[in-house]
Amino acid sequence: MPGSRTYRTEAVVLRQSAIGEADRILTLYTPGVGKVRVVAKGARRQKSRLRGQLEPLTRASVSLSAGRSLDVVVEAQTVDAFRSVTEDLERLTRALYVAELTDGFTVERSANEPVYRLLVETLGWLSITDRAALLTRRFEVLLLDHTGFSPELYRCVECRSELEPGGHLFSCSRGGIVCPLCRAGSEALIPLSLNAMKVVRLLRRRRRFEDIASIHVSDRLIGEIERLLRNYVRYVVERGLRTTRFMDLVCSSSPGTRRAS
Ligand SMILES: [Zn+2]
Repeated sequence: MPGSRTYRTEAVVLRQSAIGEADRILTLYTPGVGKVRVVAKGARRQKSRLRGQLEPLTRASVSLSAGRSLDVVVEAQTVDAFRSVTEDLERLTRALYVAELTDGFTVERSANEPVYRLLVETLGWLSITDRAALLTRRFEVLLLDHTGFSPELYRCVECRSELEPGGHLFSCSRGGIVCPLCRAGSEALIPLSLNAMKVVRLLRRRRRFEDIASIHVSDRLIGEIERLLRNYVRYVVERGLRTTRFMDLVCSSSPGTRRAS
């Protein structure tokens, strides 16, 4: 087809839905293009070459042809189906959460290779680790970091004063710890113990999961960190990204598509 452009990339399937008689719409996350929505034509047909290659959470090598609205999958080969993840309910649930967060924290066609590497690495570790809760918390912390939403845990997010040792309060809307003097006006504050704060700092600092998996963190502490990160992550996805998306929409101007008048 004249003018058509085909490119090959690796990708993780974040989600899929059926469309039309036999097609699928897929949301892929790629290292070079970021998040991209594509159509896999005829993928639901028994005889389709694409059938079984692009299930959710699959890491695949795909060939995509640039389409008018959505790119089209020309060919796909599974690199890793993460079978031990998809065949275990707890691991599957965690993997779907990881995929959902990746989707929620990213905008289409904005490459973020560290996010891709984190996604693949997390799915890989999820297949084998018995520290899945800690791995999930690490994913949240590093995803926040790679997308520019890392919480402030060293100084008061408001007045920048150094934090006194002890328990603290975290504000989702301000994105960090608030000192006693700056608490007024913050809506819901989440209590955060010194130990929980230390673990979150550690997850952010020590990049290799091998180094983290050997550290003992009690279930109570994991639970405390989970409450904090769940709340903050939800806040960012619902509030923060809406603004980012809007900004991307307003500020994006691909070559040759200048606004008329
Ligand atoms: Zn303060």
